[in-house]
Amino acid sequence: MKTRTARVSIIGMGYVGLCTAATFASRGIRSTGIDIDQERIDQIHRGKTPIHEPDLDRLLKTAVKKKLLDGSTDISRITKTDLTFLTVGTPSRSDGSIDLSFIKSASENIGKALYEKQGFHTVVVKSTVVPGTTNGTVRPILEKTSERSVGVNLGLCANPEFLAEGTAIHDALHPDKIVIGSNDKKSTSQLIKLYRQFYRTKQPPILEMSPESAELVKYANNAFLATKVSFINTIANISEKIPGVDVGRIAEAIGKDIRIGPLFLKAGPGYGGSCFHKDLQALINYGKEHGYNPQLFQATEQVNNDQPGRIIEKAESLLGTFTDKRIAILGLAFKKDTDDIREAASIKVIDRLTDRGAKITAYDPMAIPATKKLLADRIEYAETPQTALKGADCAIMMTEWEQLRKLKAKDFQAYMKSPFVVDARRIYDPDEFKDLNYIATGFGK
Ligand code: NAD
Repeated sequence: MKTRTARVSIIGMGYVGLCTAATFASRGIRSTGIDIDQERIDQIHRGKTPIHEPDLDRLLKTAVKKKLLDGSTDISRITKTDLTFLTVGTPSRSDGSIDLSFIKSASENIGKALYEKQGFHTVVVKSTVVPGTTNGTVRPILEKTSERSVGVNLGLCANPEFLAEGTAIHDALHPDKIVIGSNDKKSTSQLIKLYRQFYRTKQPPILEMSPESAELVKYANNAFLATKVSFINTIANISEKIPGVDVGRIAEAIGKDIRIGPLFLKAGPGYGGSCFHKDLQALINYGKEHGYNPQLFQATEQVNNDQPGRIIEKAESLLGTFTDKRIAILGLAFKKDTDDIREAASIKVIDRLTDRGAKITAYDPMAIPATKKLLADRIEYAETPQTALKGADCAIMMTEWEQLRKLKAKDFQAYMKSPFVVDARRIYDPDEFKDLNYIATGFGK
């Protein structure tokens, strides 16, 4: 049988890399995913996703079955492809600045592999990196190890990713824009051609700019969204001081202004996940290193850091003390439809409650395995929301999963010991609780 070569290789099979590979394959673009984690690659071979994302399982299974997606730990496989996407992690160092060690080692491995390849090859930096990384860090490593030159026999672009966990597949298939930070015409036109093949008639706008601008677009995008979250949480905190004011109505009204828009205006426990906090910290650090202190983003982070404490205050005002109190935590993931607990407000709340003597039973439809890895037997885990509520002195709603949204006030009444609910997502109707003599307190009312 004639072997078909993959056109695209993707280094780093995490949220971004795997979703990119699976969506490319779903549109007939053969992709090879490379990771240093053998277990992850074995799972991909079995057509099983190592992360939870709606629709990813189905796309992955089909792609693997049709031999459109293949995983490997062997970096030399990239020499059989035309373009290599770099999607490794860019975590924070302890001071908040960006840790480029995965980018550096992956770039070195790519360069060494390309040394053995004939012909032009394009490398696309999709990971979130601070301005100057593509040209200042990736480029010299690639050029040195591959003995190639950008613009001659090596292409290099920055092409940040804007997908969000929980809607990653939808976002990858229907992005609002594609941003390409271009160094050389050939790699840019190769990348545009690939995206034309991918999106066919429904191509999103493609914005070409310098690599440094493209890198900054990603940070600006996330900083704006995070600031919007901290903004509405600030308004919620003020609303609580004013009798008769509900932040939901304020958000609804200001969201009608097209200059503001209705999204990301939901008061709650604050943003979490792998990106907003990490990217804001990287941007703040980058600004400071270059002689500018971005105070606005410091404030965005400060407001966000304070939100879990506000949940604790609400629970404390209901319970008096936490010692030996049983608290049900409803939802662990940082948002619904993901199993990701990185920077989740739930974990910060659990830490503070257990430090003060509370006994926790937590429910989440997806994130219990990840939480068990982090918290082990410091808390108890429930298989249903009802089991978590059983005998609880207080319930704290943390993640807006549909299963939890469906709970009625009478469900709480049927299982709990005391009538106290802190609704950090504002999803329950407080009037329904009032009828049962339950106190349900949310943000911003
Ligand atoms: P992740 O931690 O889920 O996955 C990274 C993967 O890279 C891991 O599987 C790891 O084993 C692998 N890896 C590390 N070094 C490697 C190497 N040398 N060779 C091959 N594989 C290697 O990360 P993620 O969440 O997918 O994020 C990747 C990048 O994309 C980050 O810069 C992140 O900021 C950015 N981003 C993430 C999201 C998101 O929602 N997660 C959205 C947009 C952008």
